[in-house]
Parts: sequence; structure tokens; C-alpha cells
Amino acid sequence: MPQTDKGDPTAPAPSIQSAPALAEAVIDMNAIVHNTRFMAEQTKAEIMAVVKADGFGHGIVETARATLSAGATWLGVTSCTEALRLRDAGVRAPVLSWMSVPDQDFTRAVGADVDIAVSAAEHLDAVADAARAVGATASVHLKVDTGLARNGSAPHLWPALVDRARALERDGAVRVRGVWSHLASADIPGDPTTGEQIALFDQAVAQARAAGLDPSLLHLANSAGILDVPESHYDLVRAGVGLYGVEPVAGKRFGLRPAMTLRARAIMVREVPVGTRVAYNHTYTTPRDGFLVLVPLGYADGVPRSAGPRGEVWIRGARRPVAGRIAMDQFVADMGGTEAHIGDEVVVFGPGDDGEPTVADWARWAGTIPHEILTGIGARVARTYSARPSSRPGHKELLSV
Ligand SMILES: *Cc1c(COP(=O)(O)O)cnc(C)c1O
Repeated sequence: MPQTDKGDPTAPAPSIQSAPALAEAVIDMNAIVHNTRFMAEQTKAEIMAVVKADGFGHGIVETARATLSAGATWLGVTSCTEALRLRDAGVRAPVLSWMSVPDQDFTRAVGADVDIAVSAAEHLDAVADAARAVGATASVHLKVDTGLARNGSAPHLWPALVDRARALERDGAVRVRGVWSHLASADIPGDPTTGEQIALFDQAVAQARAAGLDPSLLHLANSAGILDVPESHYDLVRAGVGLYGVEPVAGKRFGLRPAMTLRARAIMVREVPVGTRVAYNHTYTTPRDGFLVLVPLGYADGVPRSAGPRGEVWIRGARRPVAGRIAMDQFVADMGGTEAHIGDEVVVFGPGDDGEPTVADWARWAGTIPHEILTGIGARVARTYSARPSSRPGHKELLSV
């Protein structure tokens, strides 16, 4: 007989595993599949799914698999550590890793067939050394800066970089598979720098070809470029935030579907009189008799403290204001006169279909961009995966997990 006697301290805690989590980020795989397909339909180029930063907070391996199933052929990450995490999970698709220091160990990445982005001679030599050490040819993508002034070779150093790369190609240490750059302002329609960057990129490609390189993959566009700047597409496009359902172009909506719903359970409900002062420093006073709900999520979980004064959550079919300061692990929502119960679902943000707040709302309330909210959702929040039926009529099921 199962030990369910409350008095037995050795009895296993009943159904802890199956109990709904305090809080979770539910990732709608159908949304990611839809967004990947939608972006693929906008271009003849191949799609690189950018799954850096744990898939923008959605889970690197799960996101990689979903996007590859939906037509992406490449994966993009910032570090060899992220790339090897994909390889260790059995993901065999081409992966490009684009941030490194020359004295790091590239041998595992080169041995695992990870393409390495190179912006300077120091990195190029280090990758070539690693290739010789493992007896392989390293596949590199030379990056030129066309106007972001971040990574990428400065244009005046580019001719020397491509010459050096060509020499290393002759040695068999590297193969230059890609030439690439990154756009600064494709999210602002009509921004003149985008055209200037495209022109500089074309010049850099011509210089690389004149040096004898024959890159098969030219790539420049991010999500905004994919959706709004067709002349930036070339052979490969790098889709990031759009995959996760954030509209990337200012003032334009493409019908991308937000993939993450952040939700929790009410862990405490109290009935309080008008004038009750709530949370640290008592910055909130209840305007009427009513119910307060305690939500087990805080800024350690990525709910931005700065959004407190404007924040809203969705409980029992309506938006409810955040009451007072968001703390590290918890915050309070004010139900007003609507009764609530311990265990009630609290949606912090979701797709917005029913009127619940979206990640874009939270970004606005916090004075930031949705990317920062999504990537900031903490490790303590469990990620769970679903293939939610679309609430849009006529939208057919894309994936079942
Ligand atoms: C993050 C990143 C992307 C993806 O950009 P989105 O605007 O999120 O689509 C593409 N390329 C590089 C180099 C990046 O760092």
C-alpha cells in the first residue's frame, strides 16, 4: 500500500513530480515552426536559425530541432561552448559560432565540424593552428565590419585578412566558406545606413574574390532584413528574434506568433481592506477592498523590477495591475473586488490572443526591447514544450510534440 500517511516522515512526497510547477515558461513549438516557415517563405536564401543565448531563452536544443524541422539549414550561436552543446545533443546540422578569443581551444569545435567566424588575423591563425592539430580543415566565415563598429574586420584591414586566409587555404588549414557582416538598423524601414552597408559588403566580397577566395555563403540579413530588406538576402539569412515571435521591424506586423508564455500559480491570496500598503517600501496602496494574489516570480526570474509601476498580469480573464515593488522572487497583483484562490493561474505574458499582456508590453513597461525580457527569463523557471492548437481559425496544425 502506498505510504500516504501525513504522519510518516519517511513517506515520499506525494506527486511532487506531477504537480504543476510554481512557474514555467511554456514554449509553443508550433509558433516557432510557423515563424521559421514564414521567414523561409520570404526569401530564396537558406535560413540560419540563431539559437544563441539558449535559443533567446526558449531552449537551445529544442529550438534548434524545431527550426531545422521547419526548413532552417544552419544554426547560429555566439560561442563554441554553445555550438558543442548542440553537437553533444546530437544536432548534426551546420553550425556557425561567431565570438571567440584567439587563445581559446578551438580543437574540439573544429573537430566537431563547427564553422568559426573570424574577424582578425589573430583569430584566423588560432583556428588554423587548431585545424592542423586535429588534422582537419577548419571552415571559416570571414566577417567584415560594414558599419556597426563591433565585430568584423575594419575595412582597411580586410585586404590583408583575405590574403592571409587565401594563403592558409592553400596550406589546407582553412576553407573560407562564408563572407559576412551584420546590419545596424534594418529594423528602421528606410534607414539609409542599410543601403550603405550593402554597398560596402559588395565591395568587401569583390576584394575577397580578387584575392582568390570563393566563398559559397554570403550573409548579411537579420530578422528585420529578411522581412523588410530583400536586397540584403544573398545566400544565407540569419533569423533570430523573429523565430520566437517578436515583430522585428518598427511599425510593421507580419503575423509572427509569440512562442513563450510565462505563467505561474498563485501561491497566496489575501482579502484586504482599502488602504492596505503592499510590498517593499509600501509604494502601492489598495484603492478599494479586495483580493491580493502573490505570484512566485521576481526579478531573479527575469520579471523586470523597473516594470512594477506599469506592469499587468492576466488572472481570471482580465488584466490585473502589479501591486508595488517586484521583489527578487515574488510580486503581488491586485484583483480589486474579484475573488481569487490559491493555485489560480497567473499569465505574466503570452501571445496576447485573449488580451493577456505580451512580452512586447513588458518590454515597454520596463523601457527595453522584447529580446532582453526573453533572454532574461531565469534558469529557475522551468521550460516546458507544447504544440498549442492555434487560436486562429483556419490555421492548420504544424507540428505535434
Ligand atoms: C543575434 C544575431 C542575429 C539575429 O538577429 P535578429 O535581429 O534577432 O534576427 C544575426 N546575426 C548576428 C551576428 C547576431 O548576433
